[in-house]
Amino acid sequence: IEFVRAAQLQGDEEPSSVPPPSAQAQQKESIQAVRRSLPVFPFREELLTAIANHQVLIIEGETGSGKTTQIPQYLFEEGYTKKGMKIACTQPRRVAAMSVAARVAREMGVKLGNEVGYSIRFEDCTSERTVLRYMTDGMLLREFLSEPDLASYSVVMVDEAHERTLHTDILFGLIKDVARFRPELKVLVASATLDTARFSTFFDDAPVFRIPGRRFPVDIFYTKAPEADYLEACVVSVLQIHVTQPSGDILVFLTGQEEIEAACEMLQDRCRRLGSKIRELLVLPIYANLPSDMQARIFQPTPPGARKVVVATNIAETSLTIDGIIYVLDPGFCKQKSYNPRTGMESLTVTPCSKASANQRAGRAGRVAAGKCFRLYTAWAYQHELEETTVPEIQRTSLGNVVLLLKSLGIHDLMHFDFLDPPPYETLLLALEQLYALGALNHLGELTTSGRKMAELPVDPMLSKMILASEKYSCSEEILTVAAMLSVNNSIFYRPKDKVVHADNARVNFFLPGGDHLVLLNVYTQWAESGYSSQWCYENFVQFRSMRRARDVREQLEGLLERVEVGLTSCQGDYIRVRKAITSGYFYHTARLTRSGYRTVKQQQTVFIHPNSSLFEQQPRWLLYHELVLTTKEFMRQVLEIESSWLLEVAPHYYKAKELEDPHAKKMPKKVGKTREELG
Ligand code: ADP
Ligand code: MG
Repeated sequence: IEFVRAAQLQGDEEPSSVPPPSAQAQQKESIQAVRRSLPVFPFREELLTAIANHQVLIIEGETGSGKTTQIPQYLFEEGYTKKGMKIACTQPRRVAAMSVAARVAREMGVKLGNEVGYSIRFEDCTSERTVLRYMTDGMLLREFLSEPDLASYSVVMVDEAHERTLHTDILFGLIKDVARFRPELKVLVASATLDTARFSTFFDDAPVFRIPGRRFPVDIFYTKAPEADYLEACVVSVLQIHVTQPSGDILVFLTGQEEIEAACEMLQDRCRRLGSKIRELLVLPIYANLPSDMQARIFQPTPPGARKVVVATNIAETSLTIDGIIYVLDPGFCKQKSYNPRTGMESLTVTPCSKASANQRAGRAGRVAAGKCFRLYTAWAYQHELEETTVPEIQRTSLGNVVLLLKSLGIHDLMHFDFLDPPPYETLLLALEQLYALGALNHLGELTTSGRKMAELPVDPMLSKMILASEKYSCSEEILTVAAMLSVNNSIFYRPKDKVVHADNARVNFFLPGGDHLVLLNVYTQWAESGYSSQWCYENFVQFRSMRRARDVREQLEGLLERVEVGLTSCQGDYIRVRKAITSGYFYHTARLTRSGYRTVKQQQTVFIHPNSSLFEQQPRWLLYHELVLTTKEFMRQVLEIESSWLLEVAPHYYKAKELEDPHAKKMPKKVGKTREELG
């Protein structure tokens, strides 16, 4: 692949001022020396004074300057956790919260979960002793439910604020309010060097504390022509860099787990074939679902003579700093959620990243020495096809969850909530309408008893509704399993390249009439019967780690059942009840088969069953889906066969009999023999 050098990202340091520290030297240095070497360290006193003098402080600093790992420690050392008070530091990503907490625990010489811990959905690694709490922004949001004034916290640091995730944006509004009546609460908003003026304005002109950057220049290269297959282009370019460029590690940005695993496999494959013709290349993936022992490997120093290539999602853009990166390879894509409030459709698609993102990525190459960034697109594409910045998530996602939460916090007038950027009016309206349809709000927009229960469960409103409905259909045992399995979605089945046929056969063996939700239930039930065995998983091409996670999630949900007044009961194999309970939550996500394929019932959108679905070949007339994913088409993932009459049973206020009439049905005999359920 041919690259042309087109630009340079200015550094703050001269290219030759400091030689890149060798891995060994770094490892030998004590952990405290590393702490003292970080850009934030010389500003420790000044920063603490600024925090003492101002209630709200915006902190801006280049990625890797020590904001996340150091500032909470400085506050701890300064005594902000005396009298049992806690410090919260929020992260948009689960992996970042876990990894950073582990690092800080090591720096402080304590066991993770004691003084330093993390808390992410369905996983709480904290204890009574925990005073430094790294947590996802979503978890801090849920803290408001139990402690609306955050009374046990002395400092809240909203980190990675520039990411502008939905939860971070909502936190801004809530924290600003709490800060007004808790003058002793300190609020820190930390961000990479982007958009900090916006945060300052939002927090009544709070001062901005700048940690001067320390970055070497980065040369930027573009491809001469567009690349058709960026995954292949990535693999080729990594090997090209490995063979032609001086030592230094490589960081590659891809969009998600599947892509990353594919790229890693391809790289390892080709390295194996090249054998001793090339130097050793360590291929390391990093993405959200990667087990933590594997995550930790990306931080280990590269052995002498070898080179490391880290294949990462956006997580490595600003949330995690990997030392020793000299080369960045950027295909220019990311996975982005989008939402159409007109149709209520949410989809996750691979889209070109923004210029701001591209420049953050390039910056990762200049942390230890002058670096190079190879972009797998043309200079023209950069100029003309990339947006300046990423649209905040609040403007491209559904708001059901957040609206339910705000309503539970007693915030009724959502139109006038203090948003940094308001969501589209239609999105807000649709969220209210859906919550009304689910029975969470009454016609005045007030929270109902059922809505209050739904907010108690840390899952999407439709999923909570499904769990609540399992009481009526006496099948909470099964529904809990379905809910848990859905939440580890898409990583249940294992499909190694060299055993595709075996793996696919194993998957088909789990199929049950009715659809994918029952398949998930079947997998879990059989696994439980095996005594939760890893051997069983191995033999059946099921991912043990995902199953273990599903078991954790299931246990936690089970623990919450009492709070929402649902008893533990089993349907004893009467799967119609399970399917009706699922329909009670997902009646919004329904599609019917027409002459021209599937159409969603309300919006008449054309959709398709995902080829991995157990119903792919059966094409039932009516179905519901768990989610829509837009890849080459709008695919429904996790689909369940339903009967249209159930929709009238579970959501009479939402469906009219007329719109559920089936034009084909009249030509068919009313009932041919027994249905599959009756036979089964
Ligand atoms: P910032 O939040 O300003 O981007 P961090 O506090 O995350 O910076 O990182 C500061 C430094 O701490 C990094 O440059 C890196 O050397 C080190 N570091 C952070 N996380 C880890 C980790 N999990 N393992 C090893 N080193 C880490
Ligand atoms: Mg950080």
